[in-house]
Formats: sequence, structure tokens, C-alpha cells
Amino acid sequence: MCLICVDFQRQRMTVFEARRAFGEMIVAMDPEHAKEVQEMLDKAEREQEEQRAAGASSASASVAAVDAASSSAGVVNT
Ligand SMILES: [Zn+2]
Repeated sequence: MCLICVDFQRQRMTVFEARRAFGEMIVAMDPEHAKEVQEMLDKAEREQEEQRAAGASSASASVAAVDAASSSAGVVNT
């Protein structure tokens, strides 16, 4: 355990901040633990990426639904 683990697991640090701190601290870290932190950040980034991808696809789906609704309304009006 190090500062990065503690802060990151309590969600007081974003992945981005944790990675930056990790870059500064890695030289003083136990190589074994540095590897664990690296894996923790990689995993967190992957999860964040998946959530972003899921959010983006549902957002574009709702935009498409609005477009379909407004275009069909236009057909009715004319
Ligand atoms: Zn740690």
C-alpha cells in the first residue's frame, strides 16, 4: 500500500491524477508494488473506457430517436 492506492481506492484521486502521481513516485517505489499499481490503473482505465463507450452509444441512440420523431412529425404536418 502507498499513497496512490489509498487515495485512489477512496476515490479521492482520478485515474489521471493517480497516473501522474505514479509517474513521480515510481522511482522511489518497490518495483513489485509499482507493478501492482500499474495493473490497478490499467484496469481502472479500461473500465472507465467501457463506461464511456456505453454512455456514448446510448446518447447517440436517443439523439437518433429524437431525429426520427421530429422527421415523422414533419411528414404529418406537410
Ligand atoms: Zn500502493
